[in-house]
Amino acid sequence: MSARPLALVTGARRGIGAAISVCLAQHGFDIALTDLDPEGGEAVLSQIQSHGGRARLFVSDLSDIATHAQLVEDVANWGGHIQCLVNNAGIGSPQRGDLLALTPQAFDTVLGVNLRGTFFLTQAVARHMLATGPRTGASIVSISSVSAEMASIERAEYCISKAGLAMLTKLYALRLAQAGIGVFEIRPGIIRTPLTAAVASRYEQRITSEGLVPMHRWGEPQDVAQAVASLANGTLAFATGSVLNVDGGLSIQRF
Ligand code: NAD
Repeated sequence: MSARPLALVTGARRGIGAAISVCLAQHGFDIALTDLDPEGGEAVLSQIQSHGGRARLFVSDLSDIATHAQLVEDVANWGGHIQCLVNNAGIGSPQRGDLLALTPQAFDTVLGVNLRGTFFLTQAVARHMLATGPRTGASIVSISSVSAEMASIERAEYCISKAGLAMLTKLYALRLAQAGIGVFEIRPGIIRTPLTAAVASRYEQRITSEGLVPMHRWGEPQDVAQAVASLANGTLAFATGSVLNVDGGLSIQRF
């Protein structure tokens, strides 16, 4: 068994999750990557291994909560105690449109992955953490979004799912505080990934020249990954339930 701590990162084959996985490996973690789709996972695994970390991809659907207990057991059998959970996997709205035309199917699909899936995987990992001894320095970091607070009327189900993650963070922070497990929420702004590729041209000018983002640039997956690493290394020992905006100033109210 490896002496390195183990992190489980969901939705880790590409985008922000891939960057988080590689960055945590650079900070000394072994990584259990999960994803619905294995495509691209091999490249992430070899990057992690080039930093001296062990890594394995577990194909898993976050929305299929009946599989979570087995997933946690499989991950622990492979890599030992889970010291850090990064709830990164998430989907956007299947179709942006009028709030009054939002379908129950779209609502359930997005909530089923982003909130219901994340809630119950967190529950399964928290049980594992508590069952495997004192966990001082352990952490649970959820990647929500500026949409946890900023309303985008054409993608209500996404915003609601991310607002739910904000409460999830507070609830698990309270439940796990005495065990020394830090629970955190990171709210990325507009990050250049496959998820935003479809709307990239619509955002480009607003970001870079119209000042929508005060830093006048896109966020990169690495920006979010560095924030996760700073929370996951256990040095913020008296912090829990904290929210970190990684958005170039997008969410600051202006006048
Ligand atoms: P992405 O689409 O590039 O990556 C998401 C990953 O999650 C994919 O690999 C996908 O296969 C996986 N996934 C989707 N459904 C899954 C399921 N049911 N089970 C397991 N894995 C599943 O997206 P990204 O931009 O890297 O986003 C990562 C997270 O960051 C998401 O939660 C997203 O909401 C959040 N976020 C992204 C941005 C942005 O601008 N890109 C901004 C704020 C928040």
